[in-house]
Amino acid sequence: MPKPYVFEHRTRADAALLITCEHGGNSIPASYRALFAPYAELLASHRGFDAGALVMARSLAAVLGAPLLATKVSRLLVDLNRSVGHPRLHFGPLLALPALQRQRILARYYWPYRNCAGQLVSETIASCGHVIHLSCHSFTPVLDGKRRTADVGLLYDPARAGEKALCAFWKRTLKVLAPDLSVRRNYPYAGRGDGLTRWLRERHPPERYVGIELELNQKLVRGGVHRWAALREAVIASLETALAPCSRELGRPPLPPFGAHCAAWSRLAPAQGGAA
Ligand SMILES: [Zn+2]
Repeated sequence: MPKPYVFEHRTRADAALLITCEHGGNSIPASYRALFAPYAELLASHRGFDAGALVMARSLAAVLGAPLLATKVSRLLVDLNRSVGHPRLHFGPLLALPALQRQRILARYYWPYRNCAGQLVSETIASCGHVIHLSCHSFTPVLDGKRRTADVGLLYDPARAGEKALCAFWKRTLKVLAPDLSVRRNYPYAGRGDGLTRWLRERHPPERYVGIELELNQKLVRGGVHRWAALREAVIASLETALAPCSRELGRPPLPPFGAHCAAWSRLAPAQGGAA
């Protein structure tokens, strides 16, 4: 039986950063394999997992010295980036299972992950004053016949000033390092949509919690070893630069309230609004 989640503990004293990956793999625990036997192709597709997202998350965590929380269990069993009660929490055929069995899936694979994420966020806020949570995902280049144009998406809640300012600055930094990449904010999804970051926003105020989802186009993930490595390098280097004001301008822990970071990012890249 695979573990319900992967946790790799790394901390660098000057960054209150947490990396997570909710769609990191497509494994199915042994007791549910018979149920998924007819769906091998679906499991291997973007419906089963986010190709490349776990590699990206691990690389970010390793270089930036951040703790990593991830899963390798397929989102088709239970989607860790959906709320309980969401119609797509489970893959359709699972809805035919008795309620008790679905509750068992939640108890074994969903709540341990959510609770661990919640605890990590609370602990980091308690020790650092705030947390920057980066949730790593990837998206299929074509969905329902529609081609997605961006290479990288940065998802955030536009009503949270810190998230907006960090994404504006990160986007600008990424454009400098990799001018050929198309980077869009709140694309291909709205950052305020249902997910782990929204769940955490409901529990922590904007000056304590900054939740951003990184979305990578799978055409680059599958576009050859060099292209994929170059993308990871650009994402990591640009985030490191974007987070630099936190440590360079604001000093070592104890960190000041998040509003100070927000002001630093806003000075560096005035937010222009919109989802461009
Ligand atoms: Zn995802």
